[in-house]
Amino acid sequence: MKMLLAGEWVDREKTIDVRDPFDNSLVDTVPAATHDDVETALAAAAAATATARKMTTYQRAQILFKAAAIVADQLEDFARTIAREGSKTIREARKEARRCVNTLTISAEEAKRLGGEVIPFNSFPGGEQRRGYYTREPVGVVLAITPFNDPLNLVAHKLGPAIAGGNAVILKPATVTPLSALKLTEALVEAGLPANVLQTLTGHGAVLGDALVSDPRVRLVSFTGGVEAGERIMSKIGLKKVGMELGSNSPVIVWRDADLEWAAETCVSGAFWAAGQNCIGVQRIYIHREVYSTFRDHFVRFTRRYKIGNKLDEATDMGPMINEGEAKRLEKWIREAESLGATVLTGGGRRGALLEPTVLENVPEKATLHREEVFGPTVNLYPVDDLEEAIAKANSVNYGLHAAGFTRDLATAHKIAEGLDCGGVMINDSTDYRLDSMPFGGIKNSGLGREGIKFSLQEMTEPKVVCFYLPEL
Ligand code: NAP
Repeated sequence: MKMLLAGEWVDREKTIDVRDPFDNSLVDTVPAATHDDVETALAAAAAATATARKMTTYQRAQILFKAAAIVADQLEDFARTIAREGSKTIREARKEARRCVNTLTISAEEAKRLGGEVIPFNSFPGGEQRRGYYTREPVGVVLAITPFNDPLNLVAHKLGPAIAGGNAVILKPATVTPLSALKLTEALVEAGLPANVLQTLTGHGAVLGDALVSDPRVRLVSFTGGVEAGERIMSKIGLKKVGMELGSNSPVIVWRDADLEWAAETCVSGAFWAAGQNCIGVQRIYIHREVYSTFRDHFVRFTRRYKIGNKLDEATDMGPMINEGEAKRLEKWIREAESLGATVLTGGGRRGALLEPTVLENVPEKATLHREEVFGPTVNLYPVDDLEEAIAKANSVNYGLHAAGFTRDLATAHKIAEGLDCGGVMINDSTDYRLDSMPFGGIKNSGLGREGIKFSLQEMTEPKVVCFYLPEL
């Protein structure tokens, strides 16, 4: 596929192969953008801010509604693209494509609600003859940098509100999964987005990133990805706005009064969705000791039912990790945990990029598998004796995106919700639940700011005060 630069779809001599991680087959190629392309994109985006700002909120909404309709019409095609270039099975990919339609639709709706407020200037002496209000203005150029694990919907989460807010956007999708992003770019242009308002640059973040993030023409960097790249960006960014949606190591508490079968079933899905490459994937489960063995047996039984393999097969529950290197990295973490005393209850094997869904117990706190974000299909079970201990242990890592608790008791549920340090607590659901309109984001190393269209739109616009001094009043 070609990339979109300064209103043109362009090729480059140097290209990047996009390969299916299941069998390494070539899916397509994309241009490797150069430093000259970065400059062209920055100049074109800066020039397009006037066009983007001038679009009425009605026009922005119409474009976003139409793009949503295009994605809906081509849903299967989008789903196959997601499933080929990334890790998701075709069923997981269809869900992502449906969510993208919703994300674009919410963006269109929120565009129409972009307003300000009357300011009570007479609330302080001297303001008697002043009247005024504030509106929300676009920030100008938004730089959107996205990860591989939700290659379509996380792109929509940035492009939707950026366009709704009247901004020009430069998109830099993940190098391993750029095709869904390019297809969404096509849909937006087909829907009527002036082509120079969006630049979609394909190429390596390590090569293009510094020049993009540090440029003063960019007014907001909206980044979703890992902590390492996030920290690098923060060190280069200079004086501009930033949104950071980073990783996590999500904890779940299963209390003795919970529906254990439901908790196990939904946490298995939450642990192994997208082969565990999910920023809100279940990683650590703290279970009341009285019900530990029952929950563990359910959990292992449900995990063993998982069919892994070809992503395009309707029966497949879990596909490969994004590449063999990532699967080997996690396999090494499993072996390290075993050497420190952990027990693998099921899984642990690897074939190429396919790592079996793996459940462990007795994982010591010093094991990498306990401390770090695994971003893969492993989950650790731990028995606990009291709720304070469970909450303290859940909070003991340096991440805080989503957490969850299972209980039938309202007071216990509130204690869990209030005690867990994170951006969102799910009660009687796994950590892997997100509605695209809710405020989404984390604390500690999980990020800065919130996404979820209404909330992104606040970040992607600035208030502008208008005050009239009317002495005749
Ligand atoms: P990543 O390696 O951090 O890459 C994310 C994006 O950043 C890619 O487009 C990457 O480009 C780019 N990038 C890398 N280095 C850069 C630099 N120096 N300057 C500018 N851009 C740079 O993350 P990933 O492996 O794709 O995704 C996994 C991570 O994302 C996990 O930690 C996961 O938890 C997190 N995530 C968070 C959320 C959330 O909403 N909180 C959602 C999904 C994923 P290249 O692809 O070219 O390297």
